[in-house]
Amino acid sequence: MNITTAALDRAFARYKPIVDDWAAFLDALTRPLPPVVWTNTLRVSPSTLEAWLAEEGFEPTPLSWYPGAFRLAPGSRPGRSWLYRVGVMHIQEEVSLLPVALLAPQPGERVLDIAAAPGGKTAQMAVSMGNRGTVVANDVTFVRMRALRHALERLGLVNVSTTIHDGTNLPRAIGAFDRVLVDAPCSCEGTARKNPEVVGLCGLDFSLEHQGVQKALLRKAVLLCRPGGRIVYSTCTFAPEENEAVVDAVVRDFGQHRLRLLPARVPGFHVSPGLARWAGQTFVDGMENAARVWPHHNDTGGFFVAVIEKSPHGWGTRPPDVPPVAHLWPEKVVPAMDERAFLAERFGLTPEQFSGYVWLRLKKQGLHIVNDDHRPPPRPQPDGVGMLFLHTKARTPKITTAGALLFGHVATRNVVVLTREQRDAYLVREEITLSPEQVDSCTAPGFVIVTYRGVALGTALCRRHPSRYVLESLFPKGWMRG
Ligand code: SAM
Repeated sequence: MNITTAALDRAFARYKPIVDDWAAFLDALTRPLPPVVWTNTLRVSPSTLEAWLAEEGFEPTPLSWYPGAFRLAPGSRPGRSWLYRVGVMHIQEEVSLLPVALLAPQPGERVLDIAAAPGGKTAQMAVSMGNRGTVVANDVTFVRMRALRHALERLGLVNVSTTIHDGTNLPRAIGAFDRVLVDAPCSCEGTARKNPEVVGLCGLDFSLEHQGVQKALLRKAVLLCRPGGRIVYSTCTFAPEENEAVVDAVVRDFGQHRLRLLPARVPGFHVSPGLARWAGQTFVDGMENAARVWPHHNDTGGFFVAVIEKSPHGWGTRPPDVPPVAHLWPEKVVPAMDERAFLAERFGLTPEQFSGYVWLRLKKQGLHIVNDDHRPPPRPQPDGVGMLFLHTKARTPKITTAGALLFGHVATRNVVVLTREQRDAYLVREEITLSPEQVDSCTAPGFVIVTYRGVALGTALCRRHPSRYVLESLFPKGWMRG
């Protein structure tokens, strides 16, 4: 659907007084968005990804303000690339990198993403925490969590627990957080470049419909954040009613001596200050520290971000601290001797390679793996914790694709190195005939890990045919489309 400048002019007319260059604003909204990807630094370095993207013809340009992220040539389809399908990189709109950059979660911390699906920002924070600590990714919508789970598996993330709950109503028992992200449901006006249909919906009434849940989510975030912690509130909309007005209401509720707006600024990324007043209302002091991102300033979508610091003093009882996973659920921790013997025998994966992780039997189908400093919520009961690593129901355990992507690069036995053509065949589940050298890398028919240029692609089954050995690809069907 193509959107005309006249339609945009009508839809957004009420923002004319607060946009510095109206013609440039409208012009930006009619152009397609440049695709942006970021490096999964748990798997490769940004310079490696940049070189590989260039080889694949994506013409990457590093983002000056966000290390490891690249803008690609207009019209590129990075979702189809092997680099995306095996979790070496993630695709995320440039402007939507801003909230997590400002949240700045640190390894070992406990962080809540209160409205997390489909999970771009959850993945971004979990990677930037180095697969340590705890991200609790919550959303009210079950189906939207599927995409989030897929992203976690593809990227090899173990430091995330997921919950499906109304974020406005999360219990105190979920525990205290060092940082909370409220990436609120909104009218999405700032996404008009990618979803032109929003232009037909937007308007004051539509924005006001969102205010109730936005304020309730932000209030809950404040209550669950530890004193001295940080809350980031963001939307992808221009409407001050969903942005400054929401932050203003919540800061006033708790008191300006308890919540302070910090500068939402990142060097190299142009933002405009939050509004001091709108429609006759004057907002709390410090609102200019919030950031408005207009599409024409950085050639992105539109966004609003406020960074709120919770004062260390003057609060009543805080939510409880939650112990690490092994203390919380000692009954679920598994020594898993048989499985470890299998991993050592088949893949040369030794117990030392699993130090820093805990194995859990959460469901019947197999073993989960999670970082040992992970502190999942006691309540609400998580829908997922860490990563399903081994299927254990069959006679021979089977490592999951997510598990192979995370640990495959340190495996030393039954690792088959693929050629470029074989890599492409593997990713569309075609059978591969092995060369004599590749056959030599297998100790016996059975499960193998396949790699390409030192990057694990997943698992396969090595079978003997009368005259040759073949690989049956076990790359998940659901991941083939990219
Ligand atoms: N942070 C996400 C990301 O980066 O992929 C995008 C979040 S999207 C802007 C807003 C999300 O809020 C939606 O997934 C929606 O299902 C969720 N949501 C709406 N009402 C909610 C509520 N009461 N509690 C929790 N999540 C809610």
